[in-house]
Amino acid sequence: MDTLIKGGRLILETGEIEANLAIKDGRIVAILDPSLPLPDAREVIDAHGLVVMPGAIDVHTHFTGSHDFPREELQQGTLGAAIGGITTIAEMPHSAPPATTLDAFLQKKALLAETSTVDFALWAGLDGKNVAELASMDEAGAIAFKAFLCSGDPAGDATDEKGLPRLNDDGLLRAMREIRTFDGLIGIHSENHDILIGAGEEMRRAGRKDIRAHALAGPEIAEIEAVGRVATIAAETGARCHVVHVSSGRAARIIAAAKSTARITLESCPHYLILDEEDLVRIGPNARCGPPLRQRPVVEQLWDAVLAGDVDMLASDHCPYMPEQKAAGHASIWDAGMGLAGIETSVPMFMSEAYHKRGVSLARIAAMTATAPARAFGLYPRKGAIAVGFDADIALYDVNASWTVAGSEFKGFAKWSAFDEMTCGARVERTIVRGKTVYERGAATEISPGHGTFIGRIK
Ligand SMILES: [Zn+2]
Repeated sequence: MDTLIKGGRLILETGEIEANLAIKDGRIVAILDPSLPLPDAREVIDAHGLVVMPGAIDVHTHFTGSHDFPREELQQGTLGAAIGGITTIAEMPHSAPPATTLDAFLQKKALLAETSTVDFALWAGLDGKNVAELASMDEAGAIAFKAFLCSGDPAGDATDEKGLPRLNDDGLLRAMREIRTFDGLIGIHSENHDILIGAGEEMRRAGRKDIRAHALAGPEIAEIEAVGRVATIAAETGARCHVVHVSSGRAARIIAAAKSTARITLESCPHYLILDEEDLVRIGPNARCGPPLRQRPVVEQLWDAVLAGDVDMLASDHCPYMPEQKAAGHASIWDAGMGLAGIETSVPMFMSEAYHKRGVSLARIAAMTATAPARAFGLYPRKGAIAVGFDADIALYDVNASWTVAGSEFKGFAKWSAFDEMTCGARVERTIVRGKTVYERGAATEISPGHGTFIGRIK
């Protein structure tokens, strides 16, 4: 045996048990009754008092798209993923150039293979012109295809060289029909383009540059309308479909109701569940994201959806902007980078709120952070659960910890957090990727960049 994790409280798909976990050649080989004698192992990890969770799978990260130093960001920032209990990331296609062609996709794969501490999967992008390229990227292991229904540009073009243009309804229908042919997954940023452009222009005409104007420029109805349209086209085409970063409880309900006719899942993010519009005004540019943080009653409706089991999974939507890219928003909120740095806090902050304050079980949290993403994105049964035969991707948690978030200590360039100075009641003590410890709190861990390996969609 290579490694034995003894004395922990294991969170399995079937529920919690006290057991010892045996690892060999990077895989889980046995779950052992604690009354049995321990087998010999080269490494024994004492997990008494700790919760043994399946490593989280974060299906929504932007390490390569937030600024111009993707290599350095990946080298440092994916260590941050490990610190946050995340053992696999799924990187979005945004980058220079975006992963909308097989060449660009393979370039990106090579970059992450050299730099990522944790395992990685890759999204490809839809730009309305590359329908004929999709099957080849699927063949190369793309786990999903990203589409935008909106753009900051009124004409719908990409707003920079890393971004994607909006897909119009015809483009969306054609993309879903094509993706259906190889049973791929389309993931959609679902906000109504015309409503967002109209609301944004109204703010600009009024000369608004303040922080609240950002919230007013992203009304909830834009999201509610768009998810209904997405669900309709998903049902019509039969394509597997995933809605990213849902911030509205009403939108989540519409998607959940559509599951009887469409193959559709959704994710939400910690910031939509913990922060609200008043926090946005208090925090400033560091809390600017799209969709914007919502008013408190909307946040509570989103929690109702979580508690009803209607939110399939959690994702960080990690956008590690340089501090100056965010600070630009103090003069005019429209100049602040759009997105939050959240890879290190995503699961601990969600767990803190969900488990301690909302009564969500650890089994449900494991489902939302690991099992559901693995199943929806084609990484199951290799990733996403603690079970014999799975990769030994594990995070050990102290769920009775208390620590204060300090973005200044984050790995990577984004040394800031919208959760700064908030207290978190769950802490990652150790993270293991394919049997190897890549993070141990308070200890120097020998891990070279590039430990992470590419995980393609399992068919
Ligand atoms: Zn995103």
